Amino acid sequence: MSSNAEQTLQFDQIRLPPEAQALREEVRTFLAEEVAAGTFDPHSGGQGDDFDRAFSRRVGARGWIGMTWPKKYGGHERTFLERYVLTEEFRIANAPTRGHFIADRQSGPILMKYANEDICMDVLPRICRGECCFCIGMSEPGSGSDLFAARTKAEKTEGGWRINGTKLWTSGAHHADYMIGLFRTSPPTKENRRHGLTQFLVDMTLPGITVNPVPQMTGSLDFNEVVLEDVFIPDSHMLGDVDMAWTQATSELAYERSGPERFLETFYVLVGLARVLEDNPDTRGAEGLGRLVAQLHTLRRMSVSVNGMLQAGKEPVLEGSIVKDLGTAWEQALPARARDLAAFANPQSANIPSFRKQLEHATLIAPKLTIQGGTTEILRGIIARGLGLR
Ligand SMILES: Cc1cc2nc3c(=O)[nH]c(=O)nc-3n(C[C@H](O)[C@H](O)[C@H](O)COP(=O)(O)OP(=O)(O)OC[C@H]3O[C@@H](n4cnc5c(N)ncnc54)[C@H](O)[C@@H]3O)c2cc1C
Repeated sequence: MSSNAEQTLQFDQIRLPPEAQALREEVRTFLAEEVAAGTFDPHSGGQGDDFDRAFSRRVGARGWIGMTWPKKYGGHERTFLERYVLTEEFRIANAPTRGHFIADRQSGPILMKYANEDICMDVLPRICRGECCFCIGMSEPGSGSDLFAARTKAEKTEGGWRINGTKLWTSGAHHADYMIGLFRTSPPTKENRRHGLTQFLVDMTLPGITVNPVPQMTGSLDFNEVVLEDVFIPDSHMLGDVDMAWTQATSELAYERSGPERFLETFYVLVGLARVLEDNPDTRGAEGLGRLVAQLHTLRRMSVSVNGMLQAGKEPVLEGSIVKDLGTAWEQALPARARDLAAFANPQSANIPSFRKQLEHATLIAPKLTIQGGTTEILRGIIARGLGLR
């Protein structure tokens, strides 16, 4: 690594503060009550992305959506590290957060930065109450990694913009109240091929929007094709500056990549493995489990560090990309490693049927983990550039 690289890469030594630990207890009690009430099953095989609007409302009522946002928008002005603990606990319990998670993680912060005050005052408090679900309208057929090849057009018209085109892989669009969409408002320029895209807040109930499900290997209908035909969006719903979304969309991606959800999507398999190895496992099983836990611990320290740096007002884009790259590779490999270590399970364990279900689900979702939110190759390109290697 060059001396330039050593200056660029920085993981601050950060520990979770006492208030974050106190919050963890509160969150665990809440989740245990929800499990007891039958809202969700933490050992069901990993359905953590389930949509449950009533659950989202209860989370909002606790003050756990928009935790770091200003009070005037319905937020709670708490720290990124408290939000970290909440995300971690919800993810490891497989709580059904689909109804609010995207809005909380990235759409709300984008609105706060780029929407006008009327929209902020209208939409952000509803997000905080768990009443408003968002989807991300970036990818298109032929434009995934290369976001700036997006072709869905926004043409200027009286009082607003007319949108025509198709978005693809739009997670949760069938539940969403709003999309933050990336649309072409001008052609790219010779000097800057990223120029010419603009972000808009799109009300998903507008006439001209059709949401078509795209089934996944697991059988779940989680993501979609969204067709926009002559959809009228008022000027007030344009976000930031016209043609300049290339700066805004990349800051959205930084939010999308920095959290613990980026290595905990198959965590239930690790818990399931511990449950089938049971007390006093064979040394080989214990060693294998210990190795996985040690790796997870390291990832977690790095991820806490990134969130601590966000709290300190820094922009750890490079460090966030490293956590996502290492984290998604780890969570992707976990099901196969757990399957090998299951050779040392207690064959009489009552937990074997649920572990099998978990393994099956995790094996089916593993391939997507290094694609969603930026592929491995793209992340490594960002990391190499950040380190001055390209
Ligand atoms: C589960 C899931 C949920 C998703 N949800 C959403 C969503 O809600 N909203 C949304 O907008 N998108 C969403 N996506 C889309 C996701 O962001 C894209 O799939 C991703 O960016 C890859 O784009 P692509 O599928 O067009 O593949 P491509 O960009 O065609 O990539 C194909 C392969 O080529 C490699 N490649 C591409 N360019 C380069 C390069 N320059 N250098 C080296 N290798 C390269 C890639 O790494 C990949 O391996 C989701 C995807 C998944 C799997």
